[in-house]
Amino acid sequence: MSSQQPIESFIIEEGSVMDPGADRPPASEYFGHLTFTGDVMMRRLPPDVAMSLEATIRKGATLDPAMANTVAAAMKDWAIEHGATHFCHWFHPLTGATAEKHDAFLSVNGDGVAIEKFSGNALIVGEPDASSFPSGGIRDTYEARGYTAWDANSPAFLLTSPDGVTTLCIPTAFVSYTGEALDTKTPLLRSIEAVAKQAMRVLRIFGTDDGVSRVVGTLGCEQEYFLVDRELASERLDLSICGRTLVGAMPPKGHQLDDHYFGAIPARVLSYMTEVETRLFELGVPVKTRHNEVAPGQYEIAPTFESANVAVDHQMVAMHILRQVASSHGFKCLLHEKPFAGINGSGKHVNWSLSTDTGANLLDPQDETHTNMQFLFFLCAVVRAVDLHAELLRSSIASAGNDHRLGANEAPPAIMSIFLGEMLTDILDQVESGKPRSTVKGGTLDLGANTLPLVPRHAGDRNRTSPFAFTGNKFEFRAVGSTAHVAWPTTVLNTIVAESLDAMSTELEKKVGKKPTPAKLESAVRTLLKSVVKKHRRVCFDGDGYSQNWHEEAAGRGLPNLASAADCLSLIGARDTARMFSKYGVMSSREVKARAEVLQEQYCTHLEIEGRTLSTMVRTEILPAAMRAQAELADAVGATQVAGVECPESEEALRLHVAGVAALRQAIAAVDQALQDAPEAVEKRVKHLQSRLVPAMEAVRAASDGLEADMAADCWPMPTYAEMLLIDR
Ligand code: ADP
Ligand code: MG
Repeated sequence: MSSQQPIESFIIEEGSVMDPGADRPPASEYFGHLTFTGDVMMRRLPPDVAMSLEATIRKGATLDPAMANTVAAAMKDWAIEHGATHFCHWFHPLTGATAEKHDAFLSVNGDGVAIEKFSGNALIVGEPDASSFPSGGIRDTYEARGYTAWDANSPAFLLTSPDGVTTLCIPTAFVSYTGEALDTKTPLLRSIEAVAKQAMRVLRIFGTDDGVSRVVGTLGCEQEYFLVDRELASERLDLSICGRTLVGAMPPKGHQLDDHYFGAIPARVLSYMTEVETRLFELGVPVKTRHNEVAPGQYEIAPTFESANVAVDHQMVAMHILRQVASSHGFKCLLHEKPFAGINGSGKHVNWSLSTDTGANLLDPQDETHTNMQFLFFLCAVVRAVDLHAELLRSSIASAGNDHRLGANEAPPAIMSIFLGEMLTDILDQVESGKPRSTVKGGTLDLGANTLPLVPRHAGDRNRTSPFAFTGNKFEFRAVGSTAHVAWPTTVLNTIVAESLDAMSTELEKKVGKKPTPAKLESAVRTLLKSVVKKHRRVCFDGDGYSQNWHEEAAGRGLPNLASAADCLSLIGARDTARMFSKYGVMSSREVKARAEVLQEQYCTHLEIEGRTLSTMVRTEILPAAMRAQAELADAVGATQVAGVECPESEEALRLHVAGVAALRQAIAAVDQALQDAPEAVEKRVKHLQSRLVPAMEAVRAASDGLEADMAADCWPMPTYAEMLLIDR
């Protein structure tokens, strides 16, 4: 699906609203020109300062604080030249969104003279009021002080609103007065270091660390989304408030014909996508791929991968731009995991790997994979990590929204398993039974026509039913929800792999010491991998993850199947998990517990808002409309009978309608009751809402959808699925 077009032809398309025109600079200058990095930085900073900042960005070195004033002054001038009046520390609180507090560059001196000012201090540290952000009990409401700290590893950027207001955004970490993380970036950065440290250790054991100064995590996140007409969406309270429909009967056509997937992109959508890509390109986000997804109205955008920290920031920027640009094209962009029940949901595939700073991908199996013991070591470490920490990994993607997707028959199941493909499965078989001796080759496909090329065939098929798939030279975590902030699942993945690399390296070092001979190392690695494979390959599964058989087989293998978020959110705070996070310096046990609490609170808040929205829609829109339809029907039946004509079918239709209305009234009363009965304590509230509110809302949906299917279209009070998804506008 990747497109091989050069950057230059990629950004310019017919109909682009933000077409930079014929006199635009070359792509190399245009790309990222709204970020303070690369050429921009080199041109504006003295060489020594530029080199130091460059080292921070590229090598993760610490920035010399003495240079902060110079960097700040250059950033300010650059931002002001682009029309910025304000700067902000841009951070990732535990709300799952990003936050920004704007400060003007303008300062007024004591003598009343206004000057433009941005000091090194203001660049490095901010002090926003932290009291209104979720802290999971780390802070009391009156304990308000928090700090934002510049993350120089992720380039500052200029964000412009649709009205042309430009703000300098400085990526930062956000911590409380106590130094504890109140955000998703701080643990992410710590986890990146933890996994890098353990990976370096492995390279040293294998003697492949020559010239490598560090290992970096790489990340590429494919984002699925829906576009619906903005005017239609604004007529629906559920889409406006919850980002998904809470009622809505199935339209006559879904994606049965498979005619949308990879279909020709509609012109209006293409114009939208082009503007999104242009904006993202300016912001240094290397988006590359775009296509129609499975469901009508569903699309995907994917970037080229980057270092994990920057990729996470860029993913948040991408979601922001997707939403923002939609309105000027008359669309609303829905990032929810399941905007339309019964129709394919949206995910976010998080592609993850580890690479050296010299550019070697540590998950690249290479040609003769069976001889590549270092690759097999990393591979087995991931297998071990996913097996040992399956519950935590599952919890890292748990949310009220993702519950509608995971386990449903078109998304990965909630059972964490790994797809390895034919070639690696064969090698693991060989590892388990002794010495690996061969690598299965894919060969080529002859398509039978002379004009067609021989297609190089992969040594294994793809599997779209797997939640965690090895895809050539990276793992693809496919169970992540489309609204998710990817920092958290990435943090978990980094940490469990760090743990696994650590445990396996320790065992290896015990056997062979730190500088073993190649022969001794190879035999010890073989023995170690054999035991890891024996113990943990139960988590590997290449079959159909959607099938009932797999559910049964997985249970037989002892794999956890945490069907809903309510089953797993509290596990994040478990003692063992907390111990692991603190052992690798990713989070203290207080931070872990706080995170678990915040995620549970969010789960409850989302469901409660949905419950109240549904109640409002049913009581103030659907029931009144149904009563009007009932009156029309009753009038018609009455008038027909008065005219002396029998109409038993219409009478029956009226009776059914009345029964449907009664069922809806009862169902919505149960929703209101479930909301009212919700206990205070968060763990109990999670369980209560999951077991009482969720089914009550489903019952309302069934009753409402039944009415919608039979009611006069001009009585139905909101846009239907067909209008939103199937009718061209
Ligand atoms: P598909 O998922 O269909 O195989 P692609 O091959 O285009 O699609 O890759 C999907 C995503 O994986 C892209 O965002 C790509 O940049 C990313 N990716 C590729 N290689 C790596 C890597 N080594 N580390 C992290 N992400 C990667
Ligand atoms: Mg993919």
